[in-house]
Amino acid sequence: MNVISGQPVPKNNTAKKTKTCPAGIIDCPVHEKYESLKKAYRRLKRFSIRDELTGYYNYSFLVTTLGNEMERTRRSGLPCCIILADIDHFKVINDEFGHESGNQAIKAVTRLWKQNIRQVDYPCRYGGEEFLFILPNEKLVNAIQTAERLREKLERHGLCLKKQRIRLTASFGVSEYNGMSQYSVNELIEKADQFLYQAKHAGRNCTCPNHLPRTDPQQLSMAERMALYK
Ligand code: GH3
Ligand code: MG
Ligand code: MG
Repeated sequence: MNVISGQPVPKNNTAKKTKTCPAGIIDCPVHEKYESLKKAYRRLKRFSIRDELTGYYNYSFLVTTLGNEMERTRRSGLPCCIILADIDHFKVINDEFGHESGNQAIKAVTRLWKQNIRQVDYPCRYGGEEFLFILPNEKLVNAIQTAERLREKLERHGLCLKKQRIRLTASFGVSEYNGMSQYSVNELIEKADQFLYQAKHAGRNCTCPNHLPRTDPQQLSMAERMALYK
């Protein structure tokens, strides 16, 4: 029995219990305020690190996390990689279908890619229709394979906008940090951006680099060889 309202406090009802004031006061205005502030705080916390449209991590989270991963690489010696992805000819989508449909296309592409990376990877929105994936503890050969998987998935998937089936592709630039050089976050991103530029100039819908220069195949594991020379 509630001492203030005189109403019985429901028992064995966990959904109700969480909403009930710890003092047992039913419809307690202070507790209701507390619950709504808690909800607002969770929302603020989410959007302080995430992009609202895609749910990917935002730019400031990207810079901090990549800096941390590069530091981890310097200490552990285990390489990390980044993949920079840019949707091809995206302006045409906006021009033909409108900005809102463009947003729907960005949502669909990012959802598809999110399903095709590891739990430990960080999908980030770098800006506009450009996305950056941080791959901790990953070698270049495997990162290239991941980029190719994302590229192929999008190429095959297609999209439906305003009842029209359309084909979207993207280009990818990949770079690895092995801890040997004193690269900054910006320098590593710049390297991936240069490869992305190459991919655009190579005709789009491709990944650069797409092979490891001067790599002795004997030094690669079977999985790495299959990824590279499949
Ligand atoms: P390419 O990358 O293949 O060279 O061509 P592109 O047409 O994709 O290149 P560009 O970078 O010139 O254009 C990108 C377009 O993406 C322009 C911009 O209006 C649009 N865009 C960026 N962010 C958003 C967004 O959040 N929503 C929508 N609808 N469009 C966006
Ligand atoms: Mg772009
Ligand atoms: Mg583009």
